[in-house]
Amino acid sequence: MTLLDGKKTSEQIKLEIAREVEKIKSLGGKIPHLAAVLVGEDGASQTYVNSKVKDCEQVGFGSTLVRMDASTSEEDLLNHVQEINDNDEIDGIIVQLPLPDHISVQKVTERIRPEKDVDGFHPVNVGRMVKGLPAYIAATPYGIMQLIERYQIETSGKHCVIIGRSDIVGTPMNILMSRKANPGNCTVTLCHSRTPDIKAHTLQADIIIAALGMPGFLTEDMVKPGAVVVDVGITRVPDATKKRGYALKGDVEFEGVAPKCSYITPVPGGVGPMTRAALLWNTLQAAKRSFYQPAPVDS
Ligand code: NAP
Repeated sequence: MTLLDGKKTSEQIKLEIAREVEKIKSLGGKIPHLAAVLVGEDGASQTYVNSKVKDCEQVGFGSTLVRMDASTSEEDLLNHVQEINDNDEIDGIIVQLPLPDHISVQKVTERIRPEKDVDGFHPVNVGRMVKGLPAYIAATPYGIMQLIERYQIETSGKHCVIIGRSDIVGTPMNILMSRKANPGNCTVTLCHSRTPDIKAHTLQADIIIAALGMPGFLTEDMVKPGAVVVDVGITRVPDATKKRGYALKGDVEFEGVAPKCSYITPVPGGVGPMTRAALLWNTLQAAKRSFYQPAPVDS
């Protein structure tokens, strides 16, 4: 069994990004700048946003953290996003989810200019991904694809079973793993809460991607020997032995499943750090205007 070490791989990606930033600087270019908008005081959201800002510092990006009160109106938030859209100093924007109930996530997502949508949630970026065009791919699926690619895991012709069909993980993974590309070229089964007998599917799987948010859901008896298992789940489970009062648990019952696998991601230290690195990579592309350069004008 080989551990898919997201921590080590993400450090390597961050090093590559930092080198690019140095190159941009030495050529007198503008360094990439990410704006993160946080609405409200949710503890997990604050932790996520703070680590994204820290990541920016680590690779030499500029960053702006915009904190807004939980009572902020939808209109105020939309106006703020518009201001960032119009600010040429800022290359990428993320609005940390979840948002308070009175704010429409869809409206906010669509207000971000697709060229600055480094979270890859805007319908334009989702559509471009589906069409196989250059696009910002949501950070978690992009991070998983990087992990698979960098560990040179064969995916072509394999059966991939994904558990969970959310917009930000399961559904894009379905598209990416089945597309005609490397990694890709899988036959994909997408399971969700209405799928009867998930075990019957996972036992057929060469690759399992567990993204449902139920700690320890995937157990040893659900996995065939030699499978590749990617655990996306992160759930805070109360744990009095930890200083912070909780432990992070994945969707895979690691102790039992790991010995049967060819490759497996740990939690923490697997998909989580890869997600953070993928956001930085998207921000670098935004600064380089890689995906949205206008087509050359014929002379
Ligand atoms: P989500 O939006 O809540 O979606 C969960 C999906 O799992 C839904 O499609 C749901 O089915 C399905 N599901 C729920 N219970 C199920 C069950 N018993 N059997 C089969 N399918 C079931 O969650 P998400 O945002 O995709 O996140 C999933 C997990 O990944 C969470 O633990 C989250 O914290 C974690 N996550 C980690 C990262 C990272 O960086 N590592 C990033 C994002 C998310 P229905 O569609 O039928 O409701």
